[in-house]
Amino acid sequence: MLSSKILGLSPRVWSVSARALAAQAQAKPHAKHEPATGGGISFDLSDEQKAYQDVVRKFAREEIAPQAAHYDKTGDYPWEIIKKAFDLGLLNSHIPAEYGGAAMGSLDAVVVTEEMAWGCTGITTAISANGLGQAPVLLAGSHEQKKKYLGRMTENPTDGKPLMCAYCVTEPGCGSDVAGAKTKAVRKKDGSFVLSGQKMWITNGGKANWFFVLARSSEDPKEKASKAFTAFIVDADSPGVTVGRKEWNMGQRASDTRGITFEDVVVPKENVLAVEGAGFKIAMGAFDQTRPPVAAGAVGLAQRALDEAVKYAMERKTFGKFLYEHQSVGNILADMAIGVQNARLATYRAAWEVDQGRNNTFFASVAKCYAADIANKIAADAVQVFGGNGFNSEYPVEKLMRDAKIYQIYEGTSQIQRVILNRELVKQRQQGN
Ligand SMILES: Cc1cc2nc3c(=O)[nH]c(=O)nc-3n(C[C@H](O)[C@H](O)[C@H](O)COP(=O)(O)OP(=O)(O)OC[C@H]3O[C@@H](n4cnc5c(N)ncnc54)[C@H](O)[C@@H]3O)c2cc1C
Repeated sequence: MLSSKILGLSPRVWSVSARALAAQAQAKPHAKHEPATGGGISFDLSDEQKAYQDVVRKFAREEIAPQAAHYDKTGDYPWEIIKKAFDLGLLNSHIPAEYGGAAMGSLDAVVVTEEMAWGCTGITTAISANGLGQAPVLLAGSHEQKKKYLGRMTENPTDGKPLMCAYCVTEPGCGSDVAGAKTKAVRKKDGSFVLSGQKMWITNGGKANWFFVLARSSEDPKEKASKAFTAFIVDADSPGVTVGRKEWNMGQRASDTRGITFEDVVVPKENVLAVEGAGFKIAMGAFDQTRPPVAAGAVGLAQRALDEAVKYAMERKTFGKFLYEHQSVGNILADMAIGVQNARLATYRAAWEVDQGRNNTFFASVAKCYAADIANKIAADAVQVFGGNGFNSEYPVEKLMRDAKIYQIYEGTSQIQRVILNRELVKQRQQGN
């Protein structure tokens, strides 16, 4: 395995852990990480999680971080790093063992994602978007669909480029209001569907081997969203699929974001996820799984901003003192640390709920919203600690500030997380919780 060469670590650390997790997952699919004590709270990571953390921390510091500025400036897709991540088991890690994956739990995944994101969140988004594309298939796919579409992602790439996939829900006219999606799916007599419409802001859009696509299959404009949409797996090379230009975004430029057009694209009936009409619930349900890792990305970015700020404050002097010796700068650093700790705890909780097999909608939105908002504040604070240097691209923190912004937008904006939380609070009250 390449991991031993890159990291100088025994490949056993990784592969043994992955196998152990896979076995655990198969034995207990809904309760992978029960507390060893049988109750109470433990803030300790398991030995396996610590092993993942060490390996990925080294990978992020030695392989990702040194390349981050290059990919930010060029916008090139980071194939070299993605390939190494694939060899380490960081892509597709949550795919069940029977389809060739490492069957990682949600808490494992957030530990790993935070470490990667410390290195570069643009590269991390490119890697993690596979998880978003795959989540609906994991949630609602049949055994045959999982075998075909998840199984192929875990096979060694023949051309050195691991397979990527993408989640196509947002459209030029609607993002937050998913129920307003206009892409049409028309059923033919043989049970296949014809898709027409346009998707926008699709991460990995130009690199995907297949897409998860949400389309409106009901012709009744009054039909409830929960019944009006159908979810599909669409091969990217299907006739009628056109991939748009790479969008040049404010930050996370290593990530490939594009519009995708579907023009009379025929999708066989075998590629319908679950049943006709179940698409909206599948597309939204995937977020419970994917929002904790997105929050973890924001935590990794915030930790990086804090680390850079502390280092700088211990090196630079003004008025004969190091920056950290000025109380108001020290207070900024302290507040940054408080934010990082709280965001990490909220993220761990949201992921832990998934591993317990419980509904985590509430905790996922708390984590995603808080981590995104605080990462933006922390990145801006890091720029402040750096002064003029912070505003300059020769220093690492301006990129962190640009990269942070997207966490408040994708996978549900910070406003939409609050809409969800408000709804959950009312539901909890009605249920007497
Ligand atoms: C870089 C990038 C990558 C992305 N990747 C993907 C992807 O892989 N797949 C995918 O399907 N989508 C993706 N998206 C789309 C993303 O999820 C949407 O941009 C996001 O959901 C917001 O939708 P919108 O852009 O249409 O904004 P709008 O929905 O038009 O919202 C505009 C503003 O109004 C606010 N707002 C809207 N409705 C309400 C409300 N009810 N209450 C309060 N405030 C509200 C929003 O919070 C926002 O501030 C990506 C976007 C970007 C920029």
